[in-house]
Amino acid sequence: MSQLPDTSEIESPTPTSSTYPFTLRFKSNLLEQTYLRFYAQWLRGQSRIAIIIGMTLFVMDGLIDLSLPNADLRRIWALRLAVLVVGFLGLVYTHSSRFQRHNQLPMAVISIIAASGLIGIQLTLGGDEAIRYFPSLLIATFWAYLFLGMRFTSALGTGLFIALIYNLSLRYQHLSGALLLDQNFDLFATNVIGGFSSYFSERQRRTLFHQQCLIDRERLVHRQLALEDELTQLPNRRHLEQSLEHLLAADPGRRHSGLFIDIDHFKPINDRFGHEVGDIALRILARRIRQSIRDGDVVCRLGGDEFFVILLDTQDTDAAVQVADKLLSALQQPLAIESPGGKQVHCTVSASLGIITFPFERATVTTILKRADQAMYRAKAAGRSGYTVFDPALDELDQTPVHG
Ligand code: GH3
Ligand code: MG
Repeated sequence: MSQLPDTSEIESPTPTSSTYPFTLRFKSNLLEQTYLRFYAQWLRGQSRIAIIIGMTLFVMDGLIDLSLPNADLRRIWALRLAVLVVGFLGLVYTHSSRFQRHNQLPMAVISIIAASGLIGIQLTLGGDEAIRYFPSLLIATFWAYLFLGMRFTSALGTGLFIALIYNLSLRYQHLSGALLLDQNFDLFATNVIGGFSSYFSERQRRTLFHQQCLIDRERLVHRQLALEDELTQLPNRRHLEQSLEHLLAADPGRRHSGLFIDIDHFKPINDRFGHEVGDIALRILARRIRQSIRDGDVVCRLGGDEFFVILLDTQDTDAAVQVADKLLSALQQPLAIESPGGKQVHCTVSASLGIITFPFERATVTTILKRADQAMYRAKAAGRSGYTVFDPALDELDQTPVHG
């Protein structure tokens, strides 16, 4: 299958999305619209090739004229030229932006004009000579069904219309009854074979498209899950590492702050009220952190009761300290949680924060996290419920005083 459009924009075509049996349209409108956009891209290339080859064969069809000494070649070539002009216009149309939306009728018109040209040549010749062109008409019908790339329903309408025009023209051709029957059988067989082939190939194209959409969606979900913390739905550590890497690789003139947060004495909450209450508490705390920072800033759950916040574009630690104060007071607000047993549980927690600004010399994701972690542990050691700003001069030594 050729290039697929960006299927990530498909919100949720149901995995069971199927097609209507005759028209083959997808039952999901969204999927149908996405398919039609993909199909138009594919059709553009397909129909160009088909038109160019069709026009070449149409000219080569002129070789038949050589064995028809009595033919009115001027009229035949005038008809041929008219068809070639329409083919050329069709080719030009495939380059226009309108082709994206309106492609079935123009393709049907090109097929019908090509077939009408052949019927016109037959009328010009008449009698036994005319039937020399009949196989070309069958080929033109197959061309419309199988090569031009039209959708099954459009190709069927076109094939039947060509058969109708041919039958209407027969009254001017004076062919024997037996021949008429033969020709109509041939036309019928062409429509049946062309129709079924076109039906199955469109169905297969749609099935492949649908499967590709499902695979793309699955891939997207996996990618999201790989970067998301299951409990809080916040970005996870991997996501944070990617964000930090991205920031380190970007403009070194921009300075940011990192806040390492660890909830104080969280284990006793689990021990006292149960793990499920602990989980709910972690979700509430995650939401509070998210609500305390700007939309553009990043917060992730590192694991356990540890979170990390990136405050973007903070030139000095003052801004980070302000946010740290805001976070400490948000996290200290009482928690009211309904336990699985239906009992209302009330508790409060505090947190210890380590603050780091980056980039610094030879900063890496690991050193940023390590230094922020170190600062956080200083806050813990100093009695918890406070923050410490990491001081590079005191790396691994005493850190700046703790604020509560
Ligand atoms: P400290 O004040 O030193 O931070 O002690 P703490 O009790 O908060 O313990 P610590 O930070 O060392 O460890 C985090 C605890 O959080 C351990 C575990 O009981 C709990 N925990 C970790 N992950 C989860 C989780 O997914 N759900 C719940 N409910 N509890 C968790
Ligand atoms: Mg803790």
